[in-house]
Amino acid sequence: MSVSGSGPGRQDALRAAGDSGTTLTAAGGDRAGSPGGAGAGSGPRDRLERVLVSPERVIRTIVGFRPFRPSGFRVDAEPLGDNKLLVHNYGHGGCGVTLSWGTAHLAADKVSESGRTGMAAVLGCGVVGLATARLLQNRGFDVAIYARELPPDTNSNIAGASWYPHLVADDTRRTAAFTAQFESAARLSHRYFQDLVGDDYGVRWRRQYFLSDAPAQDPWEYTLLSDLFRDSRRLRPSEHPFAAPHVLLDTTMFVEPAVYLSALLRDFHFAGGRLRVQTFNSPADVVALPEPIVVNCTGLGSRELFDDREITPVKGQLTVLLPQPEVDYAVATDDLYMFPRTDGIILGGTHERGVETREPDSAAERRILEGHTAIFGAMR
Ligand SMILES: Cc1cc2nc3c(=O)[nH]c(=O)nc-3n(C[C@H](O)[C@H](O)[C@H](O)COP(=O)(O)OP(=O)(O)OC[C@H]3O[C@@H](n4cnc5c(N)ncnc54)[C@H](O)[C@@H]3O)c2cc1C
Repeated sequence: MSVSGSGPGRQDALRAAGDSGTTLTAAGGDRAGSPGGAGAGSGPRDRLERVLVSPERVIRTIVGFRPFRPSGFRVDAEPLGDNKLLVHNYGHGGCGVTLSWGTAHLAADKVSESGRTGMAAVLGCGVVGLATARLLQNRGFDVAIYARELPPDTNSNIAGASWYPHLVADDTRRTAAFTAQFESAARLSHRYFQDLVGDDYGVRWRRQYFLSDAPAQDPWEYTLLSDLFRDSRRLRPSEHPFAAPHVLLDTTMFVEPAVYLSALLRDFHFAGGRLRVQTFNSPADVVALPEPIVVNCTGLGSRELFDDREITPVKGQLTVLLPQPEVDYAVATDDLYMFPRTDGIILGGTHERGVETREPDSAAERRILEGHTAIFGAMR
């Protein structure tokens, strides 16, 4: 199996590709030195319900694009036209949900630092645009969202979506300044999400199990934020039901995009927000807006709209099975993952950099189904 995935596969951030293979390659970090490291757990085995994987249980296959920038997401400000302030907030790769509140906070800071008040426009109604719009409202701005697509038709609706720092930037391209900005955004976002846990927003804490053939080093994103995964530890074979040589357990938040994005839109409207469906074809269209402040949250759309040639789509495909409410844990290997949600059991993952077709790939679907059949078929 290989976990590409928008999911928590810890090596994904380093590889961002790999789509085949039938072995469990290292997904987890070597925690022998950490307080909860090797041998720390000696509790009884968790009782986990088996996921029922079969082609007959597939209810849909969906495709979305991660807006990836090798140097990392962009949050900065520049003048636009004669007297507008343009703040960019896009390029979140495989963790736009994870980072959304954090980069929204940083973008709102850029707006506040300008000293301007009054009307603000947010371009984009995905997870990043909605969080940005809400934080600007909280700071007293009169906000309008302009977007070509609204939920449920945004890429954000396709996200897995676990709270996990994954496919943020290419290691060779990220600067120290970006790393500091990323860490700040991730920590802010983690805190914001904690206040939204519950059915209203579709945010839940869940255990996740990382299965691997061998221990490996965690990618830099995880290492930087390891304290946010407070109960992370390696399990002994007697403590888990999986047929994998190495199993790591931690707990993180999982978001149901359909519920979550609708809830944010509701909050936006309650706070007096205005929403308009509009496509922007050039910066001149943006200059023509009545709002003197504009925050660009168009994700992949920034490639054409603001001529950002660095941004690249990374195609992700999910196979969704009939819901199983009794499944209350997540699983990831290096190139596969399973997230349980009320709208179905989400099976991923794929990572195809530069691929922009919305057409599902039947070979990828077969790999995902066969890989998960092997994982759950072998559960003790
Ligand atoms: C399969 C898959 C799994 C994923 N799993 C996770 C996960 O587990 N955790 C996680 O954190 N992230 C995950 N992601 C990544 C996450 O989905 C993205 O990082 C996130 O959705 C980006 O949000 P966004 O708001 O920037 O972009 P989008 O959701 O694409 O929203 C962009 C908005 O801008 C609008 N727009 C664009 N161009 C224009 C234009 N020219 N004019 C007007 N409007 C425009 C669009 O219509 C839309 O409203 C996953 C992604 C995929 C595909």
